[in-house]
Amino acid sequence: MLAAVLYGKEDVRVEHRPRPLIGDGEVLVRIETALTCGTDVKVYRRGYHARMIQIPSAFGHEFAGRIAAIGPGVEGFQVGMRVVAANSAPCGRCFYCRRGAFTVCDDLLFLNGAYAEYIKIPARIVKQNLLPIPDHVSFVEAAMVEPLACVLRGVDESQIAEGESVALLGLGPIGLLFLRLLKLRGARVLAFGRRATRLRVAEQLGADAIFNVDVVGDIPARVRSLTEGRGADTVIECVGHPSAWELAIGCVRRGGMAILFGGCATGAHVHLDAGRLHYDELTIKSPFHHTPHHVREALRLISHRVIEVSPWISHTASLVELPQILAHLTRPNGMLKVAIHPSESD
Ligand SMILES: [Zn+2]
Ligand SMILES: [Zn+2]
Repeated sequence: MLAAVLYGKEDVRVEHRPRPLIGDGEVLVRIETALTCGTDVKVYRRGYHARMIQIPSAFGHEFAGRIAAIGPGVEGFQVGMRVVAANSAPCGRCFYCRRGAFTVCDDLLFLNGAYAEYIKIPARIVKQNLLPIPDHVSFVEAAMVEPLACVLRGVDESQIAEGESVALLGLGPIGLLFLRLLKLRGARVLAFGRRATRLRVAEQLGADAIFNVDVVGDIPARVRSLTEGRGADTVIECVGHPSAWELAIGCVRRGGMAILFGGCATGAHVHLDAGRLHYDELTIKSPFHHTPHHVREALRLISHRVIEVSPWISHTASLVELPQILAHLTRPNGMLKVAIHPSESD
């Protein structure tokens, strides 16, 4: 089969690889759609991910497809079934899992290899995070389950209520998913982004005010001017850079919350005003990843058309085009997600 392998910094090759063999409790899925993700682009640029990947490695983690084979002991699934899997499953037994803190599980099992014709789903993920796709949901729509699950968790952590003001920094696919969910909660969203195409999608999704960060100047001052001088009730950062984290904290009102959602490079440091943190009673959270509950909720929202996926998909491509697409995605442009169809590259 054809599969993309990450060898290091900006080095992804599409190669012939043996089709994975499956064992007890495992499922082989023929991938119909894999979606590019900001995390993959980050991993491609840095050549590593602190928790998710060890190179050389199969690559890509948002996908949906059809079951091609089933190992002994698998229940509830049949060959030919349309399925979506999340890219991880917690152990369920460790100190953290016993407290329901699944995202910081001692042994969170990650799955990579969505940019390939076939992927083996490990038994633990089959048990916890492999879900049948309803007939009326397309593979492209189903492949959005993973990023949506992450953002649903972020929104849960934020506890945003109706009518509250939210400053949203970063309008990539993740920022735009936040925007959609925040509008569903009745929040007033002040959206800050850069690329014209993304600003347009933000408008389409109902942002209450939209700013190009290259034009707006002092972002915290702009947020204060739109919130009676206070700052936003909640700020959500979806950039993944220390300077954006600092900026986000600068936009929060007294007693407010900053959700720092974009993961920064290992060893990155942010400077924060300890006095402000304490005397302004700021709450800072930095949620990572999703839980089996959020994965199910994401599929439910997509299948009920609460989330319409089409605005997030900029392009469609075959697997052999992936290296050029990743290179393109590292450069600033307005692209959101690319739907890769591995089965068309035969
Ligand atoms: Zn992702
Ligand atoms: Zn665990």
